[in-house]
Amino acid sequence: MENYTSLRRMFALLGMRRGLLDWKATGIRMAKKIAIVEDEAELAALLDYNLTRGGYQAYVLSGNKGALKDLEAWKPDLIVLDVMLPGDDGFELCRQIRHSAILARTPVLFLTARSDEVDRVLGLEIGGDDYMTKPFSPRELVARVKAHLRRAGRDEEENAAVESGPFKLDRGAHRVFLRERELNLTSTEYKLLEFFLTHAGRAYSRDQLLEEVWGQQRFVTPRTVDVHVRRLREHIEAEPDNPRFLTTVRGFGYRFEDPA
Ligand code: CA
Repeated sequence: MENYTSLRRMFALLGMRRGLLDWKATGIRMAKKIAIVEDEAELAALLDYNLTRGGYQAYVLSGNKGALKDLEAWKPDLIVLDVMLPGDDGFELCRQIRHSAILARTPVLFLTARSDEVDRVLGLEIGGDDYMTKPFSPRELVARVKAHLRRAGRDEEENAAVESGPFKLDRGAHRVFLRERELNLTSTEYKLLEFFLTHAGRAYSRDQLLEEVWGQQRFVTPRTVDVHVRRLREHIEAEPDNPRFLTTVRGFGYRFEDPA
């Protein structure tokens, strides 16, 4: 235990120096927090070292009872969770994490000793996002952590509210408001308005709009765009024939004037 403590202290010191350098290089960006729930001290120290070197702030928990409370208090951005733990096993802890108001959406990456546990890890009931079977390369673990954080960040961005002038878009709920009044749009009208609100000020041809909003759908023609633009104008414009927001770019397509 003594060895483990000094080893950790040494790794922590290395990590701290590295962290300071990163901080200088990247300005005020906060390091993402990774919790490591692992009772094997050497493996925990190795993960701590590699994650810290990767620019993360790592925190080791041995997985005794009370781990959930510690996790809720620390609010990690991702949890690396061993299956075999001295208190509740990793599956049980993951279940608790998924029911925690604070941690429910935090990605969980399982560490398993046996490949026959993998089916349980991937079970929907447990709610793990990924797994690695021991032994594994710490570098690969860091790469997976990075990928999951990137995905989590993207989800957050996709669900974020967009406010632009009198428009407010609640992307998580798929609702859009104009001057605090909710617009009753079809799914396609919503997608079209979402695209325009997030790409204001630039002109788009009908073909570009088809590609961006309708994607791979068949049976749509550039004329489809005109029909939906006309309907959308009726929802958002005081004078649909003399639009203030969604204007026609003659001989090309449409532009959404920056409403801000
Ligand atoms: Ca273990």
